[in-house]
Amino acid sequence: MSNIVAIVGRPNVGKSTLFNRLLERREAIVDSTAGVTRDRHYGKSDWNGVDFTVIDTGGYDVGTDDIFEQEIRKQVQLAVDEATSIIFMMNVEEGLTDTDYEIHELLRRSNKPVYIVINKVDSAKEEVAATEFYQLGIEKYYTLSSATGSGTGELLDDIVKDF
Ligand code: GDP
Ligand code: MG
Repeated sequence: MSNIVAIVGRPNVGKSTLFNRLLERREAIVDSTAGVTRDRHYGKSDWNGVDFTVIDTGGYDVGTDDIFEQEIRKQVQLAVDEATSIIFMMNVEEGLTDTDYEIHELLRRSNKPVYIVINKVDSAKEEVAATEFYQLGIEKYYTLSSATGSGTGELLDDIVKDF
């Protein structure tokens, strides 16, 4: 059985940036034409010789949270159903939002391992700001700069350990 890692989160947090980074050197799988998968991208990646599939959710990534809240909820549910591990991405630039709380609640009810990632932590300054996410009641989060790739190593080490 293959391991499937889904990246979920609000629009604009940086999901596709991380997805593309994980797929570097690897070939993206052509989009499925099936209805429910039309707005999801699949790709192959590996870490320390361990292969896995990555799902990037949210082809709807335009507009505001409000308009797409329903769609986000659907995408999160599909990810929970389909993936073996889930990356829940938020970003320090916009901070913790009501939609983040909602997504976190949905994920807490799943029995899948969830890795909480705070993206756009490009410097030490943002590292401090990221502590606001402890308000979710979580014990651990990973800080990432998907733009530069910093932090991805620690995250992937832990994800592949759980496969
Ligand atoms: P998505 O809607 O969640 O898929 O987000 P995207 O991957 O499309 O990224 C949204 C915007 O955030 C783009 O302009 C990215 O260049 C930017 N972005 C993504 N990751 C980072 C990061 O680590 N740091 C900064 N400063 N910007 C980022
Ligand atoms: Mg995207």
